[in-house]
Amino acid sequence: MATKHEEGPPPFKRNRGDEHNKSNLSREIDERIFTYLSDLVPFSTARFGILQLGPLCNASMSCAFSEANCHVKTVLNENNLALILEFNQLFSKGIQLLRDVKENKRDLEEHELAALKILDDFFKEKGQHEESLIKILQGHLGDGDVTETEKLIALAEHLLGKLSPGKSYIIDSGVERKGKCGCGFDHCNSDPVFGSTGLGHEEVWHGSIDIILLSNGGIPETAASYFDDSQGLVAVASHINDCEYKTDEEYSERRTSERKPSLSCAESRAIAQTIVFSFCQRKKHPHFSNFLIPNIFISPKDFRIIMYDSVNDILICSAPLPIFQPYPSKSLQIASIIILWMVLHHRMFCGGIDPSSIMGTVNEMKEIQSNFKDRAKEKLNIYINALKFGVHEFPLVPRESFPSYELLGFGVHLIPQTKS
Ligand SMILES: [Zn+2]
Repeated sequence: MATKHEEGPPPFKRNRGDEHNKSNLSREIDERIFTYLSDLVPFSTARFGILQLGPLCNASMSCAFSEANCHVKTVLNENNLALILEFNQLFSKGIQLLRDVKENKRDLEEHELAALKILDDFFKEKGQHEESLIKILQGHLGDGDVTETEKLIALAEHLLGKLSPGKSYIIDSGVERKGKCGCGFDHCNSDPVFGSTGLGHEEVWHGSIDIILLSNGGIPETAASYFDDSQGLVAVASHINDCEYKTDEEYSERRTSERKPSLSCAESRAIAQTIVFSFCQRKKHPHFSNFLIPNIFISPKDFRIIMYDSVNDILICSAPLPIFQPYPSKSLQIASIIILWMVLHHRMFCGGIDPSSIMGTVNEMKEIQSNFKDRAKEKLNIYINALKFGVHEFPLVPRESFPSYELLGFGVHLIPQTKS
């Protein structure tokens, strides 16, 4: 729960305790916001599975996010059925807020009104954002294909950024071909901010996050990892070191194979980013009421919500949620908009996972914990205490390899040498 709320967008006009104004609020608001309150089924498509990291996970090694290996599996019970958490269990505060507004149950706090206004603004501008997103994500710009960066910017500008508490975001300054949103519509006054989104530590998992969504005080709140499923590319693949290959053929062969990583590589990268971002948030904001922190794993078609709680060691991942309604509709999926809005306002709406509520279903927490503490081994302390945020470039950590001349030169004899 947010304890402090900095200046935000002006809330709806109202006087506290004024019955007339209170009932006006639900009439002022775009009614599409209340679409699913009587039937929560669309929210249950966002149910979460519980993930565990496999034995080959390399969390204890110095690895860029693009090299992360997680080897996750979904936790199943003795009957091979997945253990699940419902979206409306984790985000019950958000659903309750919408119910309270619809039924005019109570006066809202200022920060609740500010959050509601963000969702309302989005619905009132929804047609414009749909036009922009469709042009960039599904179309062509005339002079060649749309670049990955253009898709990333459009998603940040016309979807994630507009729904975040600060209506603002930072894009990794390492992406290729930085620029304004390419949609070109008059309604688009985008001015993307590019900056250092590097986080982690050179001794463990580290690297840049594609998009960081900000609070209304400009504080990083939620991460987003971009992945273009349709072309089998990940944006991070552009960070390959070009100098390692002697011939053009060797380089182009390697680059082709690296630019088409499997979905599991992108998933491992997103999970590593989720875990590192969650540890960073815990270190920076020890006063948070819970540490279940989300990362939005998004492609031009759909997204998943991945969340990690570094205190209880619980890693969860939602089913994929479509951005648009089924073809040929050109409308955004309303449930997905509301889900994204609640996730981006997780400090207000997410109650976290109370271990005592789980103990009836499992015998011990270990059954549903991610095993991260075992996988990080002796480096766990770095994750808890030494992660860095906003790093432009991490120092290179030499990898263990064949012994150098110097290392052997100063060695200790295993078999004592006899004097001849
Ligand atoms: Zn635009």
